[in-house]
Amino acid sequence: MKNARGFTLIELLVVIAIIAILMGILMPGLQKVREQARFMACRANLRNYTVVQRMYADDWDGNFPRSFDWLFKGGGTNCNWHDESKNLALHPELAGSCWSYLKSYPKIHVCPTFNIVAKARSCYMCGGATIPVVPQYGYTMNSYLNGDAWSSVPAQYQISISGNNLRKESQVKRPAETFYFSEENTWRISGLNNAGINDTNLRPLPSKMTDSFGTFHKVAASNMDHGYANASFVDGHVEQVNAWDNEGLETWELCWPGDKPAPIF
Ligand SMILES: [Zn+2]
Ligand SMILES: [Zn+2]
Repeated sequence: MKNARGFTLIELLVVIAIIAILMGILMPGLQKVREQARFMACRANLRNYTVVQRMYADDWDGNFPRSFDWLFKGGGTNCNWHDESKNLALHPELAGSCWSYLKSYPKIHVCPTFNIVAKARSCYMCGGATIPVVPQYGYTMNSYLNGDAWSSVPAQYQISISGNNLRKESQVKRPAETFYFSEENTWRISGLNNAGINDTNLRPLPSKMTDSFGTFHKVAASNMDHGYANASFVDGHVEQVNAWDNEGLETWELCWPGDKPAPIF
């Protein structure tokens, strides 16, 4: 082995530099692939939620569950969603009206992207100070479907059969364009007065007040206010929604169960 020799320092540095360049090229692509996998897992979760939507309607004469207490009895309070001691599989006595259907699918309640983002960004409602952020539930229901959002709607726009609430699937004018379950951020989006996920019902208003859809899918960690959410719709399909377009009407119209154009108030 006359010619055998080690690498020179220069050769070693060149090899390391090449590896570093390749990593720089490949890593963003790899991260996109991983987010795409999480995004698809989230969609699969919501497809199971559409099965629950169907079962609930079949059992309850086409009615929606109340959007305030579909998950927790008496409504979720601010931090139930990330409180391990409120896990409904362990504490079914705390469960709301949809749990008897949802419990058949124990692994669908936390979107994998939300799980990462929520732990990293903590909870706006409690700042992570008292209850550790261990996401238990991440999906929220349209509060205009049998919900308290109607208390914010002027009388002339209310859609009523009995009282002010819209309670039945058959009352929704555009079932393929009205979301049922979707996602919320844990933080405030700059420029909006959204509260962050708290009571597992989602009630955006045209005035940009209160809740907004999640913005954490398919986006770099540095731009988390401008990504996408997944949503199930009243007709049972699942679709990506452009959650941050609160400048226009698009986001608001996803909530509004009446005819287009959705009213401004
Ligand atoms: Zn909290
Ligand atoms: Zn998701």
